[in-house]
Amino acid sequence: MKRRGRYFDGKETREPEQRREEQAKALAAMMRLAARKSPLIRARIESLGIKPTKGTAFDLLRKLPVISRERIVQMQLEDPPYAGLGNPDAAVDRIFTSPGPVYEPHLSESDPIWARAYHAAGFGPGDVVLNAFSYHLVAAGLTFHSGLRRVGATVVPSGASSAAVQVQLIRDLGVTGYTGTPSFLRAVIGKAEEAGHDFRRDFRLRKAAFAAEPLHPSLRAEFEETYGIDTYQMYGATEVGDVAYECREKTGWHLCEEVIVEIVDPETGLEVEPGELGEVVVTRPNDIFFLFRFGTGDLSRLIPGRCPCGRSSLRLAGIAGRVGEAVKVRGLFVAPSQLRKLAEGFPGWKFQAVVTREGNRDFLTVRVEPKERGRGKETLAPFEKQFAEICTVRIDRIEEVPPGTLAEGYKAIVDERSWR
Ligand SMILES: [Zn+2]
Repeated sequence: MKRRGRYFDGKETREPEQRREEQAKALAAMMRLAARKSPLIRARIESLGIKPTKGTAFDLLRKLPVISRERIVQMQLEDPPYAGLGNPDAAVDRIFTSPGPVYEPHLSESDPIWARAYHAAGFGPGDVVLNAFSYHLVAAGLTFHSGLRRVGATVVPSGASSAAVQVQLIRDLGVTGYTGTPSFLRAVIGKAEEAGHDFRRDFRLRKAAFAAEPLHPSLRAEFEETYGIDTYQMYGATEVGDVAYECREKTGWHLCEEVIVEIVDPETGLEVEPGELGEVVVTRPNDIFFLFRFGTGDLSRLIPGRCPCGRSSLRLAGIAGRVGEAVKVRGLFVAPSQLRKLAEGFPGWKFQAVVTREGNRDFLTVRVEPKERGRGKETLAPFEKQFAEICTVRIDRIEEVPPGTLAEGYKAIVDERSWR
């Protein structure tokens, strides 16, 4: 496979006005198709009295409601599998699920999902890349895989294998790149060192593209300075695919050419002033899943001005935090909806999830106030098991607290991490 040029394609350097016009055209096409195929969208667009055209598409978009992950879960519960947002006539090759549950039809194979990010991070032909994202049910493994294939890299689908197995693969296969969460790469390096390897000297792994978890500056410095690994951040959401990625300048995340991103006030759904902090809201024009204005729940702002790399897209200034209560623990969402579901199985119980950071790893403590006290482990074991099943993330420490500890109006999820 021939190596691409400096940019993944010509879209990355088009003039902003041209980008805007082409996106308006794609958006209008999605709106018209959605109005034909989805009675729900048709009713919504008709009620606004605006015909979707290239000239009206952005105005119309701004009048549609922002849809949160919580809202999609609720809508899909009422109308499975896609809450009336799917194209019933589309040929769907895969259906993914993510915690909630949320069902997501895989978008077209022609969409270069994640490939721009890998290209900008220098991944390409000749690379052997460990893909440590899960391939099981969720979209992550296979979509990152296809992005890597798109840039010509060889993929080792190591998925959720243990750190020890990943070390063996890195050694035996001459792995040159890693994609996954930063905390897991740190664990893999730790495992290699435990086994007596000098990671930098013994292995060829020199680049990493991370997603699903913030990259703390101190951890980035450690990867780059101690281990000689060039690191890149990628940003997306399972509902809408890739959203933004870092280039070699590492001064912000370029918006992907396939998505329309708005930064809105989470209270009103209206766009904030350029450069102000707000919720990242994403629409990905496509002909399979008509999700307009997906509210990621992430807070960010747009960086004014152009990047020296030559790409003309706007850049996101990282993620500043989460709107509301849902938090990501080790790359997985824990949402209040999941805890409410868990509560159904334990009537009269109260519990609170507390997320902290221990070294470079998220640490999840769950405080439990059972209905009856004092039976210790037997009482808590079924709870712990159910928690892992519903929230898909394992509890690190479980604490039984005395009655009355979790007073009226307590927060179900407390995020005590600091990313600064
Ligand atoms: Zn750039």
